[in-house]
Amino acid sequence: MSAPTLDNDTGWFTEICTKGGSAFSLRVHARLHAEQTPYQHIEIWDTTEFGKLMTIDGFVMLTGRDNFLYHEMMSHPALFTHPDPKRVVIIGGGDCGTLKEVLKHPGVEHALQVDIDERVTRLSEQYFPELCESNQDPRAELYFGDGIQWMKEASPGSVDLVIVDSTDPIGPAEGLFSEAFYRDVYRALGNNGLVVQQSESPLLHYENIIRPMHKAMREAGFADSVSLQFPQPVYPSGWWTATLAGKRQVTVFRDADALAKPFVTRYYNAAIHRGALAQPEFFLRGQPD
Ligand code: SAM
Repeated sequence: MSAPTLDNDTGWFTEICTKGGSAFSLRVHARLHAEQTPYQHIEIWDTTEFGKLMTIDGFVMLTGRDNFLYHEMMSHPALFTHPDPKRVVIIGGGDCGTLKEVLKHPGVEHALQVDIDERVTRLSEQYFPELCESNQDPRAELYFGDGIQWMKEASPGSVDLVIVDSTDPIGPAEGLFSEAFYRDVYRALGNNGLVVQQSESPLLHYENIIRPMHKAMREAGFADSVSLQFPQPVYPSGWWTATLAGKRQVTVFRDADALAKPFVTRYYNAAIHRGALAQPEFFLRGQPD
């Protein structure tokens, strides 16, 4: 994981990635907000070139400039893999960017966002209003509580797609990366059910996050799993994954529907989806990072 820092004197926010022996900086005009919630420390920054920046416990969550990459890849590949997704649950995702993408699919009837920290959403409404523009959609529901507990109590077969848009596997998010959680997700999902989870960097976290995530998902009962790759400039190494697991095959998707999608995206399309499914040699061979 990374160890964050800020150099107030130079006007740069820097997130140090100890494991990677690297750091990523954004030039900032000002820190607009800082607060400690019962769960985490949230800060909002105004950067010179990347728009607003949200950090939690000093780690970059999103910027105005490049969040579309992450939010589109956390939602559309999974939604175009399920044959007919109607009931979607987002665990985490308090900035509402994933919710906005999910609601672009006209077939989705209900999208529930379960984030442990209401303050993330309230600050997103204030500083990232463009991500929250679908929050009033009658199909959207915002619930503030622990996603692990919510999933334990979910009715069996009541969800088509679970999207785990969480912080890194530390603090309140740690249990979201466990086999016990995936068992609860499996039970909550219907027959064609899918789960997709942000799974960090292929370069830095293959051995300690991505590979164990596949193992835990398979042991929880999922028949198939694959990690999709995409660029994410503001996260450590700039190369990120979303791991998709399903009760059925997950490497085949509704490509004709993706080609004819009735909404605008900035990154996702059918060709990007196909490309994201291509697997690097070290994924196939299970080599350590
Ligand atoms: N894209 C971001 C990333 O990978 O850095 C994640 C963004 S989103 C803001 C992460 C959210 O997960 C936060 O709002 C946090 O409150 C939420 N979260 C962490 N643990 C959680 C839990 N156990 N249940 C529900 N939400 C949780």
